[in-house]
Amino acid sequence: MDTDVADSLSTQFLDRFGDLPDGVWAAPGRVNLVGEHTDYNGGYALPLALPHRTYAAVRRRDDGLLRVASLQAPHGWEGPVTTVRQGSPDGWAAYVAGVASVLAERAGAAEVGMDVLVDGHVPLGAGLSSSAALSCSAGLALRDLVPQLDGLSEAELVGVCVRAENEVAGAATGGMDQTVSLRAVDEHLLLLDARDRSVVPVAWTLPDHELLVVDTRVHHALGDGQYERRRRTCEEAAAALGVGSLRELDPEVLDRDWERPAGPARVLHGIPDALPRVRHVLTENERVLDLVAALREQDVARVGSLMTASHASLRDDYEVSCPELDLTVEAALGAGAPGARMTGGGFGGSAVVLVARTEVEQVAESVAQAFAREGLDAPAFLHAVPGPPAHRVR
Ligand code: ADP
Ligand code: MG
Repeated sequence: MDTDVADSLSTQFLDRFGDLPDGVWAAPGRVNLVGEHTDYNGGYALPLALPHRTYAAVRRRDDGLLRVASLQAPHGWEGPVTTVRQGSPDGWAAYVAGVASVLAERAGAAEVGMDVLVDGHVPLGAGLSSSAALSCSAGLALRDLVPQLDGLSEAELVGVCVRAENEVAGAATGGMDQTVSLRAVDEHLLLLDARDRSVVPVAWTLPDHELLVVDTRVHHALGDGQYERRRRTCEEAAAALGVGSLRELDPEVLDRDWERPAGPARVLHGIPDALPRVRHVLTENERVLDLVAALREQDVARVGSLMTASHASLRDDYEVSCPELDLTVEAALGAGAPGARMTGGGFGGSAVVLVARTEVEQVAESVAQAFAREGLDAPAFLHAVPGPPAHRVR
């Protein structure tokens, strides 16, 4: 599969740029099993790398020019790496140009340039992180091609891609997506700790069950700006509580002394919505660790109920779900799935469903029927089998 895509992409690169690429790199999208909106709060997440990848055919240039094109976008972009800044380029090319610009700064070399043609096999804007797959594929290519970047680790490259998305593309992402794309372990989930940036591979211990991804194919414009707003509320809440990030809070404050005089509930009173947002982050961090333990114990019911509890928390406390995601979860559970939740930032995109192997068709059919009954376009289904991290294909 990888090599077929690489062959075809190399030929198209030749047609477009008049020369063969130096190589082809691939970086995966991801589905997050649990731990949503926790990464920018210094917390835990448990994603896996999808077998769906974005491919980047790249030829290094030493004149500092970037020429960027995608099979999924009608327009490319061309310009010197030194002109890249927030909003320039605007649109999709910012993810690629941004990485080149941050890497050029790091290498201390204004002449870092490239021709790049990308082919994305991660559904775009489906909450499965096509954006990080894009920036990470380009970032890994430059790391491998530019001598001054020799020795830059994958962990360091994560930071580069996050900066590119935050500072050039203007997306306030927290780092989970880039971490799993660059540092995944094949056939494993990845337990991420955003506080110390450590990653621990976690085995899938439920051989009779699999993860079904439901792409609702909706994206609500309402979501624009909401991600940033959630992030800002969390930062304001942490500051009001006197901690560097919400991760520093002892989750026990929730049951022990949440309401006491000068307790967290009182302190947060003046910040709109802070209370339920903080509650989501604290309970979600606990769910990640509980789910890892449940996997170790091969406790299917517990894994499922933690996923479903995560969905309820994102819907009610964090308020980032939407009717199509709620419908998916409800229909999947109604059809007998042990657990289901929205995955990714929310306001549309995808849900992830834990389902017995023998019942995949039936659960998918129930979800599709629920969509049809509501007059919605049919959702798309993907099997989430954990794949390898970003790598050079040729
Ligand atoms: P997600 O990362 O969940 O897919 P985002 O909104 O974060 O959703 O990122 C989607 C955006 O990433 C697209 O709108 C586009 O700008 C960019 N993108 C991702 N993959 C490609 C690609 N192969 N070609 C062009 N743009 C892409
Ligand atoms: Mg994204």
